[in-house]
Amino acid sequence: MLVDAHCHPTEEVRAGRDEDEWVEAAGEVPLDMLCLMSTDTWDQRLVARAAAAWPHKVVPAFGFHPWCVHTLSLEHPPPPAHEHYEALLGPDAAELVPHLPPPVSLTDALAQLEAYLVAHPHALVGEVGLDRSFRIPMPHTTPRRLSRCQTPLAHQLAVLRAQLALASRYGRSVSMHSVRAAGPTLDMLADMAAHVPGFSAIGVLLHSCTLSVPSLAQVQRAHANVFVSFSTAIQTQHTTELMRASDPMRVLCESDYHAWAELAPRTADAIEAYGAACGAGTEELRARLASNFHRYYHYVETKS
Ligand SMILES: [Zn+2]
Repeated sequence: MLVDAHCHPTEEVRAGRDEDEWVEAAGEVPLDMLCLMSTDTWDQRLVARAAAAWPHKVVPAFGFHPWCVHTLSLEHPPPPAHEHYEALLGPDAAELVPHLPPPVSLTDALAQLEAYLVAHPHALVGEVGLDRSFRIPMPHTTPRRLSRCQTPLAHQLAVLRAQLALASRYGRSVSMHSVRAAGPTLDMLADMAAHVPGFSAIGVLLHSCTLSVPSLAQVQRAHANVFVSFSTAIQTQHTTELMRASDPMRVLCESDYHAWAELAPRTADAIEAYGAACGAGTEELRARLASNFHRYYHYVETKS
């Protein structure tokens, strides 16, 4: 049983791959299951197609990634593009605005997300999260050049909390990104657990985790529903230590990769790296990771 807990192959279609051929290719991936993330209003439809074609393999995840939430407006209906982006991103947004899509209201975005959750009763919510290092890229630049614009944390939090509330209401586990945002992530989790009914009854996966060892220990002590997953795509000098510090019953492995053909080898690499850090044998480890995945997916509290 080999599961990729978090991946992004919709990027292949964004880069120009034929969509029908892409849907077919998912069937060739030598994994038992893979959690296919969406990131914005555009790729949720692709995730739905792949999941419909391969219902036993593709676990769809619907959500708005922190790198895309600048395209969402908290006002309904949303203001004109230049007003929205300049208010959100400041005067530096002027050179970006002509290249950015008209904003969509969070209300409409959540309605779309909810419709996908209803249509796919086994879907996860993802990818959602917080990122304090990301800067919005300048469009059509090769090599890619970054603008100075960052989406304010308060805006990211508003979109994240709304998505987590929806996930809690529908009892769906979530796949979450947290980069340079340990403090706000810990505060948000504590607040959601205290105030949002159902939040403690869904699994929350901190994917490609780069929290510090003390932050991860604190989060897993406080929240029985927080899982963590490791990839070889994102590693820091603390990763080995972090692998050893995480609760072995709440660890998953993932490719965090954007091409079908690479998911299985990269997931296997992540499992091998985790096994090497923790001194676990491959057979025993694969069985444990598979049962961890099922506990996260249909969240069931670990009794240890
Ligand atoms: Zn991701």
